[in-house]
Amino acid sequence: MNKKLIKQNYYEAVNEEWLKNAVIPGDRPAISSFLDLHLDIEKKLLELAANWLEDHSDLNENLQKFIKLYLMTKDFSKRQELGTKPIQAVLEKISRLENLKDLQKEYKDFVYNSIDTPFYFSVMQDFMNSDNQVLYFGASSLILPDTSYYKDEATKERMLSLFTATTTQLLGLYGYEADEINQLIQDAIAFDALLVPVTKSSVEKADYVKMYNPYLKEDILNLTQHYNLIQSAEELVDQNVDQLIITNPDFINAFNDIITDENFKIMKSWMIVNNLISFSSHLTDEIRIAGGAFTRALSGVREPQSQDKFAFYQAYNPFSQVVGLYYGETLFGPVARENVKTMVHEMMGVYQERIHNNTWLQEETKERAIKKVAALTVHVGYPDELPPYYDQFEISSYEKGSDLIQEKMKRDRLMAAYTYSKYNQKPNKNIWGMPASMVNAYYSPTNNQIVFPAAILQRPFYSLDQTSSENYGGIGAVMAHEISHAFDNNGAKFDETGSLNNWWTEEDLAAFDNKAKEMIALFDGVETGFGPCNGTLTVSENIADSGGLRCALEASKKSDLHDDEEFFMNWTRVWRIKASEEYSKLLLTIDVHGPSILRANMQLMNLPEFQALYQLTEEDPMFLAADKMVSIW
Ligand SMILES: [Zn+2]
Repeated sequence: MNKKLIKQNYYEAVNEEWLKNAVIPGDRPAISSFLDLHLDIEKKLLELAANWLEDHSDLNENLQKFIKLYLMTKDFSKRQELGTKPIQAVLEKISRLENLKDLQKEYKDFVYNSIDTPFYFSVMQDFMNSDNQVLYFGASSLILPDTSYYKDEATKERMLSLFTATTTQLLGLYGYEADEINQLIQDAIAFDALLVPVTKSSVEKADYVKMYNPYLKEDILNLTQHYNLIQSAEELVDQNVDQLIITNPDFINAFNDIITDENFKIMKSWMIVNNLISFSSHLTDEIRIAGGAFTRALSGVREPQSQDKFAFYQAYNPFSQVVGLYYGETLFGPVARENVKTMVHEMMGVYQERIHNNTWLQEETKERAIKKVAALTVHVGYPDELPPYYDQFEISSYEKGSDLIQEKMKRDRLMAAYTYSKYNQKPNKNIWGMPASMVNAYYSPTNNQIVFPAAILQRPFYSLDQTSSENYGGIGAVMAHEISHAFDNNGAKFDETGSLNNWWTEEDLAAFDNKAKEMIALFDGVETGFGPCNGTLTVSENIADSGGLRCALEASKKSDLHDDEEFFMNWTRVWRIKASEEYSKLLLTIDVHGPSILRANMQLMNLPEFQALYQLTEEDPMFLAADKMVSIW
């Protein structure tokens, strides 16, 4: 550690060497602790997959399917030979559409085959009753990553020109003539412009509860006279539908004006352009590289993935939970799984104790909060069950006349059938939302559940070679961060069963809302080197970080081996990142997580123990006045 920097910038003091030496891989927008681990796992999985290509006779059936698909994705000479032929079926389906009536007829077929349309239905748990699943309805994504990109005329122009340039090149490779290309892109941008004013910004999307707007069938039928949304919904789920949860009322209110036969031409161009982009990764090497150009430019990624890596991920992504389960079972194992479970339960105990000793809540609210922690279900390492569609997947081969788009559609049909069969059914809470091989963790407010995939349970987060204080500052703080999500500004609105239900006394809720506002103010406008932090966008994650850090510190202090500095240093190592300028700015606009440098520095400045250890005073940049400190959990 560079001791001279401690009082100036703790993040740099701890990470100076790493920041100096870290190199952003050419095909990535950043390098960080998370990505270091990810790259390590990637290397292991690539080696495993290479061995399996040689001999996969001992593998379970689903892993064998993964290998069969991998054989197809890595055969770039066959992909080249097929050219754009595989996408013709998709284009024919779209070009046959002449009006909304045609789209209405084909809608289910499009959804089941993952052909992009301007709106979507998804099945998720009912916020009001987490034991049931209902249909949510919303508009598809915009061309640019966030509505804020459209607000400033210069930014909008620059970004849409970039989109036009990259897409022109891509459509050229598909064989379109220059006039056609111009027209298609111009139309697509014109249709996108209709969606912009009725799309929520990332800041608005960060407020979960506002996504939940139940509309009855009659109201929807009144609002959507040119297209029968209820009919499409009923075809998808093959049942009667009497209400939809509208994620953005602005969109449904404007539906009648946007989804019309007059706009059909530009909407169809939008569909053609979107689908040419989204299916591009399944075609030749040249097309998949051109298809990713815009996304790479948005994040400042210098070069596309190599063929080898790309082919691996293209087979891995649809089988990620299958490969992840293998990774978790063989490289993590049941013993580590039990150890980590014990750690999580220890952290839950400390959390309950902290709520018990809390000074700003009334007894009634405390009791409910403690009950919510007690009811948390914890999943560690790898899941007990996988989604059922993997068993139904069947992978064919080029020899049998198949190609990557046919394969994708076959899988997507099974996945869609699974998704829509969940409508009106009790959820299966054993199914995870991420593979065991992913370096991440999550809290589900509707399941009141935390999930820690095996991949995150490594250095610097967790290692038997680290001191216990280091482990508490790493994985301990991550665990308590996830528990804290049960009590962030979104999670706090759900009860211990995962339903939206106000369990707070009126005064306590008002006090909590005030504290959340203080947290917004603490981060809002703070400079990061790439622009200011948005306090409102990041409030839920900042509350979770703050609660997690305080709880983990308390847990660590219970050990005779506790050392403040080891704890703070490892917390700071976890958040190190080096990123391209474009990516850093993109994250400031769309990411609900605070910028990493503030997750390290600001969260530590907000701790009295940190201030005391380094005897910080008003003159020090790492000093925060006591009346500015925000303590929630
Ligand atoms: Zn979080």
